[in-house]
Amino acid sequence: MADIDIPTAPAIDGTTHVHSGKVRDLYRIDAGEHEGRLLMVASDRTSAYDFVLDSTIPDKGEILTRMSLWWFDQLAELVGNHVVSTEVPATVAGRAVVCERLDMFPVECVARGYLTGSGLLDYHRTNEVCGIPLPAGLQDGSRLPEPIFTPATKAELGDHDENVDYEAVVEAVGDDAAAELRMLTMEVYGKAHGLARERGIILADTKLEFGRRPDGTTILADEVLTPDSSRFWPANDWQPGRAQESYDKQIVRNWLTSAESGWDRTSGEAPPPLPDEVVERTRRRYVEAYELLTGERF
Ligand code: ATP
Ligand code: MG
Repeated sequence: MADIDIPTAPAIDGTTHVHSGKVRDLYRIDAGEHEGRLLMVASDRTSAYDFVLDSTIPDKGEILTRMSLWWFDQLAELVGNHVVSTEVPATVAGRAVVCERLDMFPVECVARGYLTGSGLLDYHRTNEVCGIPLPAGLQDGSRLPEPIFTPATKAELGDHDENVDYEAVVEAVGDDAAAELRMLTMEVYGKAHGLARERGIILADTKLEFGRRPDGTTILADEVLTPDSSRFWPANDWQPGRAQESYDKQIVRNWLTSAESGWDRTSGEAPPPLPDEVVERTRRRYVEAYELLTGERF
């Protein structure tokens, strides 16, 4: 288990801080029109190799927030979402949303259309991913015969999520909810994959989180289809049999593992701060991904 130090979340007037992840801070709104709702704030923090880096990427929180909002809109006909308002306190303008507080399903709903990451590791061990048998001969980055639902259970901070089979989801949430989560996840993946592909981007996989409203409806929560929750690959560089260049983190990872950084990944030590030039190139990558996908200027 990696040691993760989350910087203290800044106080926001009229709210109570309730949770911080590697990248986002969550607050409960204490009074007014949105009393009891959540304020979800995306910081400019970034993580690599299970570390939250000392360096932040300027505008990342805003870019990812806008990207997620754009996707929620694209998906609105398929499934509802938790966004209530983008009118947020000035200190977090542009990178926060007010959302409904839901009863979250304790499942990370992952869809994969391509094999890599933990899916590839499982495949090498068992020829299956989450209990789903796959054909022989697949490589890192191979497109799967069809997209698959590969749920995971949420790990404690700093630990890896654990892939589980569909039966484990049934045990956790019951037959009906499991079937609904699987169906919604695959529909969202299918739609998003198609949209991204038209814009030259492969959506290799994505992680969704769903929650339940008091009236029992299941809707999308958290953030969706951002580089922090999904693997985006430039389509024209896609080549199974090697690691694919990810849209966002590759620049950071390449530098961290280069001689120049002086960092030894196996040392257990925190990585050094990124040079300004690496920060700037990474920022441009996020902007580029946003603009390519949405067709809008950042
Ligand atoms: P990591 O940095 O590894 O993702 P984390 O999941 O603990 O760690 P965040 O993703 O920042 O950190 O945390 C957001 C939390 O808020 C998650 O537990 C998520 O399930 C929860 N959440 C998201 N949307 C809602 C919602 N509408 N209602 C209630 N909880 C929500
Ligand atoms: Mg999370």
